[in-house]
Amino acid sequence: MTRSLTRSRQLQLRAEQLLPGGVDSPVRAFRAVGGDPPFVARAEGAYLFDADGNRYLDFFGSWGPMILGHAFPPVVEAIREAAGKGASFGASTAAEGDLAELVRRCFPSVEKLRFVSSGTEACMSAVRLARGFTGRNFVIKFEGCYHGHSDAMLVKAGSGVATLGIPGSAGVPAETAMHTLALPFNDLEAVKAAFAARPGEIACVIVEPVVGNAGTIPPAEGYLQGLREITERDGALLILDEVMTGFRVSLGGAQQVYGVKPDLTTLGKIIGGGLPCGAFGGRADVMDKLAPLGPVYQAGTLSGNPLAMAAGIATLRELMAREGEIYSGLEKTTKAIADGVAAVAREAGVVLTTNRVGSMFTWFFTGEPVTDFASAATSDTAAFGRFHRGMLEAGVWLPPSQFEAAFVSTAHGATEVEMVVEAARKALVNQVTS
Ligand code: PMP
Repeated sequence: MTRSLTRSRQLQLRAEQLLPGGVDSPVRAFRAVGGDPPFVARAEGAYLFDADGNRYLDFFGSWGPMILGHAFPPVVEAIREAAGKGASFGASTAAEGDLAELVRRCFPSVEKLRFVSSGTEACMSAVRLARGFTGRNFVIKFEGCYHGHSDAMLVKAGSGVATLGIPGSAGVPAETAMHTLALPFNDLEAVKAAFAARPGEIACVIVEPVVGNAGTIPPAEGYLQGLREITERDGALLILDEVMTGFRVSLGGAQQVYGVKPDLTTLGKIIGGGLPCGAFGGRADVMDKLAPLGPVYQAGTLSGNPLAMAAGIATLRELMAREGEIYSGLEKTTKAIADGVAAVAREAGVVLTTNRVGSMFTWFFTGEPVTDFASAATSDTAAFGRFHRGMLEAGVWLPPSQFEAAFVSTAHGATEVEMVVEAARKALVNQVTS
């Protein structure tokens, strides 16, 4: 298939004149994989349609939110109804309490929460709150984890930061970055050593419980429990960044899957059903340090936006009503995709390591087990780029970086499994012959 991309190319040229790199978020550019991104005109279920009318099987799902597929009718209807009543009031609504109740039912560790408009804000605010609560300055994060683009979190971060090789972003003062300690993921000894070096000085450990932003990396057995024990012993807070994993790896996120209770949790993506929304929450005694009750300031003109609340409520209601069926279905579909493509890679003689937790997964072009950012970085990113281009040509749109997770939705079924395996067969054979 050779697609016509005439309209997308015109739109790209215009965008490059107006937006740096032609994009509003660097991960959307195809710099790491080559080629130019199609411009999306609309989406439905598991498919994206570009401005030239080409159809793609979508494996990034707006980077996670679209767990029910695109334009899921109850979500569309909820947004339509809310929009008819007014887009924003800057005053409290019942919908905020409705969504908060649903979140708390899914995440029992979240006694109180506050809505924000992005995952970045959720993580930035949670870290500020942890510092305010503990009166300490240092923060531990892990190499290859991404917690949004606030200054303190842009140290050895994953996602676009890793893709573009910008481990310490320009514009972040050294005085800020020095309070962020970036350690290797899945290495409890490194965490113990950091606490031993700075007892009583570390405010929090923030972690993606299943890393998605270095590609998918599951926690080693006992790792999250170890983080819980070490932080508790020192009086530091444990923040689980479940912006990606929340409502994704299970309804109650990774904390439900791995049985660990954090002090604070950050949420985003699925919680807003595709509209801009995030949240942070956890222990009531910690959350009550926030203004207007406490001294830690945090605010937002559009926080708890009625449209975002409506889309989030409709999404969570669906996930809660059909929890068993949805998560076992996602597991089955994603396993079939992972197994199918692994078999095709073996036949083609391509070395591939597949990491998967539920419906998030990554194909790494390395023979090594991928357990942290260093092992993820052994992946042959040029081979990933060729694979990405081959898959796109075959009508399958993967996240355009080795250091990102792919996502499956409830709209992906047997037909889509077959499509992606067949596309991989072509793309991987070309790997070997090109
Ligand atoms: N945390 C995690 C784990 C994420 O995956 C992301 C976004 N990919 C963020 C935080 C930041 O969220 P946002 O892009 O909505 O600011």
